[in-house]
Amino acid sequence: MSAIIFLVILGIALGAILGLADKFLKVEVDERVATVGSLLPQFNCGACGYPGCSGLAEAIVEETGHVSDCKPIKPEGKEAIYKYLEEAVGPNGEKIDLNKVK
Ligand code: SF4
Repeated sequence: MSAIIFLVILGIALGAILGLADKFLKVEVDERVATVGSLLPQFNCGACGYPGCSGLAEAIVEETGHVSDCKPIKPEGKEAIYKYLEEAVGPNGEKIDLNKVK
């Protein structure tokens, strides 16, 4: 009987620790990275100087990369990214300065 009580208490304690860890160690994910990445050509050729399309997408969202760094992207692809970024807001409600990422 004492083993069952011990396991219940242990379960509750571990659950509480996991709940606190989830609250305080949570990593904010910027959904714009995935969307911009999906709008890039997905060739993952590295011609942009980044390790694949997801690398350039992350740089664009951080305003350190440019959509024009992608060599094979078509004009309509660029426009789709610009149109998305005009409206998209980050986790803190900020928007990207399009002039910095074109
Ligand atoms: S150049 Fe364009 S297609 Fe190639 S990896 Fe970079 S973003 Fe992707």
